[in-house]
Amino acid sequence: MNREEAAEFTRKLVARAETIVFPKTPKTINNIPVFYFEAVLSALRGPQPDPITGLVMCGCKGKPEYHSSKYGYVASVKMHAECPDCHAKTAEYYAFLYSDDALEVLQRRVMDAWNTMRGYKK
Ligand SMILES: [Zn+2]
Repeated sequence: MNREEAAEFTRKLVARAETIVFPKTPKTINNIPVFYFEAVLSALRGPQPDPITGLVMCGCKGKPEYHSSKYGYVASVKMHAECPDCHAKTAEYYAFLYSDDALEVLQRRVMDAWNTMRGYKK
């Protein structure tokens, strides 16, 4: 059973437990409270990206940030993502600011690099 199959199996167990209603009784599956299974589901999902930065949390629980600066003689920028706590970081990515969305595209590349590094799968 792989990760996705384990998540699907657990989701079905929880869904079935939700359909059985015993008033004032905690829902269980084989006498194990349902919230245990929900914790397992959460672990199987893994870390989720921050809604603002799009970066998943660092393995040390630090909150990664983007770092960018001007680079070279022409309108270009370099950027990486780094954890302020353990200083894990991505490679440096570069872009010429030739279009309005160049900075956005660069940030997405850095985000994908960080999230891949942290094991996040879309
Ligand atoms: Zn860290």
